[in-house]
Amino acid sequence: MAIENMYINGKWVSAMSGEMRDIVNPANGEVIAVVTEGSNADAAAAIQAARTAFDQGAWPEMHARERADLLHKIADRLEQRVEEFAKLETLNNGKPLREAEYDITDSINQFRYYAGLATKPHGVTYDVPDQIQAMVVREPVGVVGQIIPWNYPLVMATQKIAPAIAAGCTVIIKPAEQTPLTLIRLFEIIDEVGCPPGVLNLVLGLGATVGHELASSPLVDKVAFTGGTETGIKIMKTAAETIKKVGLELGGKSPNIVFADADFDTAVDYALFGIFANQGQVCSAGSRLLLEESLVETFIPEMVRRAQLIEVGDGMQETTEMGPLISERQMQRVLDYIEIGKNEGATLLCGGYRIMDNGLDRGNFVAPTIFGDTTPDMRIVQEEIFGPVLAIQTFRTEAEAIALANGTKFGLAGAVFTSDVAKAHRVIRKIRAGITWINTYHPTFNEAPWGGYKQSGIGRELGTYGFEEYLETKQINVSLQTAPSGWFRH
Ligand code: NAD
Repeated sequence: MAIENMYINGKWVSAMSGEMRDIVNPANGEVIAVVTEGSNADAAAAIQAARTAFDQGAWPEMHARERADLLHKIADRLEQRVEEFAKLETLNNGKPLREAEYDITDSINQFRYYAGLATKPHGVTYDVPDQIQAMVVREPVGVVGQIIPWNYPLVMATQKIAPAIAAGCTVIIKPAEQTPLTLIRLFEIIDEVGCPPGVLNLVLGLGATVGHELASSPLVDKVAFTGGTETGIKIMKTAAETIKKVGLELGGKSPNIVFADADFDTAVDYALFGIFANQGQVCSAGSRLLLEESLVETFIPEMVRRAQLIEVGDGMQETTEMGPLISERQMQRVLDYIEIGKNEGATLLCGGYRIMDNGLDRGNFVAPTIFGDTTPDMRIVQEEIFGPVLAIQTFRTEAEAIALANGTKFGLAGAVFTSDVAKAHRVIRKIRAGITWINTYHPTFNEAPWGGYKQSGIGRELGTYGFEEYLETKQINVSLQTAPSGWFRH
């Protein structure tokens, strides 16, 4: 039986190859859905539909107010189904239900934020000589390919779809192959609200096929990618062949700096939240804790005590505080890094193993893990593990803390905990990262720009900055006197 869960040119279709993929619940290994598995040819068809819709369809004629209406309708329908979407997200991704509910609410807010922005003034005029009226207008970038990771399957998708639609672009989106379910369901809503054919297209499949087609096709004007830095490098190289615009939201190894004068309980709490939320599968996770040396004797035992109390289990259960990793492969990667850390000479303070009791042996559960006695050159300090593994580094001076904090190739996020306001500001300004906090970790808002310095990415998502990424800039010079220039004598 053909399974039609790709959405191309306003129609539900199955992959031309007829191939299918099992979608698995990471908490117990059970197959929860079978979806169609698209490939290059399906992506090419979707790209052509998006190109035609952008160049010739009704879409370019639609006004900002109509695009805003569309986004509002999607938000309204999604709002009626928060619980259903959250459960599906947890089933597919494994994250605790309360985190999934937060994600879906975030997606709704993103649609509303960009619906509002679509109709706000854009462009400027200039006062120039020579009887010219000079102005700058903003126009949509065009056809956009969007490639999504598995750690926030819906939210990462909607923070790309909403600004693109607000700007007037057309879209082909590819979820991570492991986590397509909530995005498929969002497209049911998109279909219901009557989006013009070809404006929003959903193609399922692998990065090497569908993702590559989006990055390489000359018919695509921009590729927006969230995922690992290695994949980002590949996409940037591929996109270079057609001088495509790229937006890259990549990995991190973010420092969380705690000074001795910080509020102890708050700093311990956020150090745990910083690394163990979403099982550590967060690009902006505080995966390096930088502790002032005088805190070591008190802070580390308290962190270890509390880390061991975190309730790990199936995300569907109310009591669960940390769920499974997304796949067996990801779990093995994390367990391999734990071995690397031990072999490098770091001290394993807690965790460090796969959880096999209480029926969790069927899922991909790793205990919250903390390493002490690290050195800056260790791989567990330098490389993104993307799991519940924290590396603790220690420092004596403010300058040393800053040097350690900036001592990786990444620059996504960072935090400082201190009760000294001046020191907090001094240090945070020195951190080479795009997302930072003082005396908290993780809260971010759709209104503010999201993105990284250094090898953590290019460009910004969210807020007005994220909108800009989907807009081109055109100058228009209008003569106020209809007369020849007189430049040539004859
Ligand atoms: P990944 O790079 O393996 O895959 C991400 C997406 O890219 C998937 O849809 C995948 O199919 C696709 N892809 C893979 N190879 C491709 C190729 N050659 N061409 C085109 N597309 C390709 O990443 P992941 O394992 O899904 O996600 C984890 C990574 O994402 C982590 O490194 C994490 O830090 C990063 N991430 C970053 C942010 C951010 O905002 N900066 C947010 C979430 C995740």
